[in-house]
Amino acid sequence: MNGKLYIVATPIGNLDDITYRAVNTLKEVDLIAAEDTRHTLKLLNHLNISKPLISYYKENEKIKSNCLIDKLKEGQNIAVVSDAGTPGISDPGEEIIKKAIEENIDIIPIPGACAAINSLICSGFSTKEFCFIGFLSAKKSEKVKKLEELKNETKTLIFYEAPHKIIDTLEIMLEVFGDRDISIGREITKIHEEFLRGRLSEIITKVPTKGEMVIIVKGSSKSEKEIEIENLNALTIEEHYKFYEEKGYSKKEIIKMIAKDRDVKKDEIYKKFI
Ligand code: SAM
Repeated sequence: MNGKLYIVATPIGNLDDITYRAVNTLKEVDLIAAEDTRHTLKLLNHLNISKPLISYYKENEKIKSNCLIDKLKEGQNIAVVSDAGTPGISDPGEEIIKKAIEENIDIIPIPGACAAINSLICSGFSTKEFCFIGFLSAKKSEKVKKLEELKNETKTLIFYEAPHKIIDTLEIMLEVFGDRDISIGREITKIHEEFLRGRLSEIITKVPTKGEMVIIVKGSSKSEKEIEIENLNALTIEEHYKFYEEKGYSKKEIIKMIAKDRDVKKDEIYKKFI
């Protein structure tokens, strides 16, 4: 019979955040697949657990997943843990889960800490709908591109960022999003836990460049109409004209609408089309 695959969340700082179920699972499984075995060993020592460990990190996820699947098929029960928080969330886990599904192996989540969710709930922004983005690319051009894609998103946005890149990322966010409200969850569950809330321009001046951080960005408050106008105004006047022409408006109506969208006098637009 196949073994079971346990996806075990571990603390993101405060070791008391490990759950009873997580401890019991780690005690009972045959093998623990850990992102960094030395890191997990410290947790296991703290919990007085002695178990075989195997490394399972992003770069070896594909190869190691095959080896773990073989062990699961032999009947071994395996726990996957990352260095902190929930495996699979900007951490290894996805690959073995996909393969386990293909092989009909039972996957059992052992819930616990997740920096994204705990930062979100303390941000004060809408938790009804949110987008988890995780880490942005280190390349500036890709970072800008991704943020441009997200700039009109009305859902709350969640980003992970490394402390040495935080100022750079917040400055790009300010450029792309404008002076939006944000909240930074820093060192959550640790001694220096804090939440920095305010406008991007204000947070940039006071955010420390050390400690672990999650950036929560309030969703765009622009209406669909405002976004449509913004997009139309980014076109040339001729393209703008064509857009309304294709919708069947008369020349007179189009000129009036373009002038309104661009907040200019009708005459100005009229002159361009005679
Ligand atoms: N899987 C983890 C989880 O469930 O939250 C996330 C792992 S990801 C590699 C690490 C990032 O999570 C950090 O760069 C930081 O953005 C965020 N993070 C982890 N622990 C944190 C903490 N205690 N306080 C604030 N952010 C934290």
